[in-house]
Amino acid sequence: MRNLSELIGKFGKEVDELVQPVLDHYGPRGVPIVRPQRQRDRKIWEEYRKLALVIHDRSRADIWARADASPSTIFHEAQHLHRYHIDGVKELHQHEQKPKVLIGLENDLEHLIIVPQLLTVFPDSRAYWEADIDKSVNDTANEQHPGAKRLNMTKAYLLSRTFFADSGAARTTEAFLRHEGLYDQIEMARSDYLDGRSSKLDLAKAVLTAGQWPLHGLGLQAVD
Ligand SMILES: [Zn+2]
Repeated sequence: MRNLSELIGKFGKEVDELVQPVLDHYGPRGVPIVRPQRQRDRKIWEEYRKLALVIHDRSRADIWARADASPSTIFHEAQHLHRYHIDGVKELHQHEQKPKVLIGLENDLEHLIIVPQLLTVFPDSRAYWEADIDKSVNDTANEQHPGAKRLNMTKAYLLSRTFFADSGAARTTEAFLRHEGLYDQIEMARSDYLDGRSSKLDLAKAVLTAGQWPLHGLGLQAVD
C-alpha cells in the first residue's frame, strides 16, 4: 500500500466513511505511506518499527510504515488523523511541552475511543491489542518506582477494561487498583469519559494523580 486512499472500497462502509474525509482534508497529495528518509527520522522509526507512525501538521501528513504493514494498522493511523484534524480533538500538554509520560498517556486515552471501533471493523486485530496490554502489565510487574507502577497499571486497566472487559489483564489491573485504593475513582473517571460526561483532561488528571505526577501546567491544545 502506498497511499491511504488504497483503503477505500475494500473494507466496507465504516472504513470508507472514516478514511474519505481524512483524504479530502489533505487534498490531492492524499496521505502517502512511506519509509522515513532522513537520518533523524530513521532513528525514531527504529524505536517504533512495528508500528505505522504518523507525522502530522495541519495540511500534510505521512504515514511511516513497513511495506508489509496490515490494512488495520494503516486504518488505525487514519483514525488518529481523523480525531485530530477532522474532529478537532485537542492533545495534552504541560507547560506548553509534551513530556514522555504525557505523550504515552495521550496515545492511550485516544486509544480508549478509537480501538473499540477498530476492533469492530478489523476483529483480527484483537490478538495484537491483547498482547500489547499483556506486555505492559508484565513489564510493570518489575517496575520499582511506585508512581510509575501505579500510572502504568492504571493505564493498562483503562485499556483492558474498555477493550476486553473479562480478560486476565482487566482482572489483574482491577485487583491492583483495589489494593491501592484507586479503583472507584479510576473506574468512575473511565466511564464518565467514555459516556461523554467528562473531558480527556479530566481523565488525564485522574490517571496522573494515581501515578503521583504533578498536575500543574496541565492542559489541552490544538494539534498542529
Ligand atoms: Zn494509535
